[in-house]
Amino acid sequence: MEIIVRFKSFFSLSNFVAFAVMIASYVSMIHLSLTFFMVGDIAILWLGNGIASALFLVCSRKRWLHLALGLAFGYGIGVYTYFGGIVFVQTGFLLANVLSVTLSVIVFTRLCKEPFTFNDLRQNITFLIVLCMLNALLNVTIGTTALWLIADTPFVLSNLLIWFVGNTVSIFASTLTAFHIFNSIRRKTLSLRINKHKLLELTVMCAATVLILVEVFGREHYNKFTVSLIFLLFPVAMWVALRFNHYITSIWITVVFLTCGFYSTAKLGPFIFMFDDLGYAIFYMQIYIFTACSTALLIGTINTEKESKNQMIAQLNKQLENLTKIDPLTQIANRRKYDEAIKSALATAKAEGTPLTLIAIDIDYFKLYNDEYGHLAGDDCLISVANAINKNLLRTNDIVARMGGEEFFCILPDTDAEAAIDIMKRIQASITALNIPHQVSPIKPYLTVSMGACTATKSENIDAMRLYQLADKTLYKAKEQGRNTFVTAKYEFATTLA
Ligand code: GH3
Ligand code: MG
Ligand code: MG
Repeated sequence: MEIIVRFKSFFSLSNFVAFAVMIASYVSMIHLSLTFFMVGDIAILWLGNGIASALFLVCSRKRWLHLALGLAFGYGIGVYTYFGGIVFVQTGFLLANVLSVTLSVIVFTRLCKEPFTFNDLRQNITFLIVLCMLNALLNVTIGTTALWLIADTPFVLSNLLIWFVGNTVSIFASTLTAFHIFNSIRRKTLSLRINKHKLLELTVMCAATVLILVEVFGREHYNKFTVSLIFLLFPVAMWVALRFNHYITSIWITVVFLTCGFYSTAKLGPFIFMFDDLGYAIFYMQIYIFTACSTALLIGTINTEKESKNQMIAQLNKQLENLTKIDPLTQIANRRKYDEAIKSALATAKAEGTPLTLIAIDIDYFKLYNDEYGHLAGDDCLISVANAINKNLLRTNDIVARMGGEEFFCILPDTDAEAAIDIMKRIQASITALNIPHQVSPIKPYLTVSMGACTATKSENIDAMRLYQLADKTLYKAKEQGRNTFVTAKYEFATTLA
C-alpha cells in the first residue's frame, strides 16, 4: 500500500511538469549554444545550470529527484543529439552537471533559509560563492577529470579557467531571472508596482542601456578612446541596482549578458579589438560583465537592506507614537490624541463647511462608586463605559477620548445637533444596558452618565478651546438638570461664552 501511494505521488502532474521543464531547458540551451554561439566560448549551454538551480530553489524538496532526473535526461538528450560522441566523456559531463547543480543547491539551501528573496546581502554573497562559483568549480573539476581520465585529453589549465568563468557567469546571469519567473508562476503573483515617475525612469534606463550596448558592443572599428566606452556600462549597472528592484536588476543582468555574448561571438565589440583570439575576447567580456553586474547587485542589495531598515524604523516610530496617544486603562484615545484630532476635524469642517459635534460625557457620582466598590472596580467600570461609548460611534472618523478621570469626549465630524441627540440616546441606552450596580447613587441603583453636546455649525471662527469649554458647560447643565440625561447647545461663530 505504501509503495503504491509513493508511485502515485511520483507520477503526479506537477512532478511531470518539473521534469519536462528541466529537459526542455537543457535541450533548448544546448541547441541555442550551437545555433548562435561557439561551443565552449560563450557557453550558453551553462545557462541551463542556472535555470536548473532556480527550479530546484522554487520546487519543494519532494520534487528534487524529478528535477535531478530531468536534468540528467535533458543534458543527456541534448549532448547526444547535438554532439553525438564519446559515451564515457559524455557520461562524465552528465555526472558533472547533475552533481554540481544538485550539490551546490543543497549547500545553498543549508546556508540560506527560505524565503529566497535575493534581496539581502548574506543571501546574495552565498549565491555568488556557492550557487555560481562552487557550482562551476564542481562542474569543471568533475568534467575535466572525466575528460582527462577516460578520453586521455591533455589537461589544459586555460581551458579549465575558461570553462569555470563561462559557467560561473552563465549561472549568475540566468539563475536570478529564472528564479523570479518560476517563483511568480508558482505563487501566481508578480508584484511590479511602478508609478508614473518610475516608469519614465525605467524607459530612460532601457534606452540608455540599448544605446550603450549598441554603441559600445555593436561597433566594428575601434580606437583606444572608443574601447574605453565599455566603462559606461558600470554606472548604468549601478543605476539599475540602486534605483530599481531586484526583479528588474536580474532581468537587466540577463539581457546585458546575452547581448554582449551575442555581439562578441559575432566578432563585434571592444573585447574583439583588444584580443585577437575570440575565446579570450569572450573570456574577458564575461569577466567584465560579471564584475560590473555582481558589484551592482551587491551594492543594490546593501541599499535595499538599508531602505527596508529605515522603513522598519519609521514604522516602529509610528507605532510608538500611536502608543503615546492611547489611554493605557481603557485603550481608547487619550488627551494628546484628542488635541490632534479636534484640530484636524475643525480644519476639515472649515474647509467643507460641515457641522462638527463635540460630546462631553461624565459618569455620575463616580466618587461615591469608588468609595463604595473600591478603585479597582472603578477602573473596570471606566473600561466598560469606554467600550459602550465606542461601539456607538459608527463612522471611521468618529473618535472618543478619555480626557482624564471619568470624563470622555467624542469628536463627531459632519454631525449635526439632531444626529448628536440620536447618538447620545444610543450611548445612554448602552450604559443602562451595562446595568453596573451603583447602590449609593442618589438617582438610580445602577451606573449612569450625563452628556453635553455642542454642535458648531458656522465653521468660520471656531476655535478648539471654545468648543471644549462650551461642551463642558453644556455637560454641567445636564448635571444641574439631575444627571442621567443630556443637553445640546449650538455654537454660532458670534457666540460669546457667558
Ligand atoms: P458627578 O456626578 O458630579 O460627576 O460626581 P462625581 O463623583 O463623578 O464627580 P467628581 O469629579 O467629584 O469625582 C470624580 C471621581 O472619579 C474622583 C475619582 O475617585 C474618580 N476617578 C477619577 N479617575 C479615576 C480612575 O482612573 N480610576 C478610578 N477608579 N476612579 C477614578
Ligand atoms: Mg462624575
Ligand atoms: Mg468629573
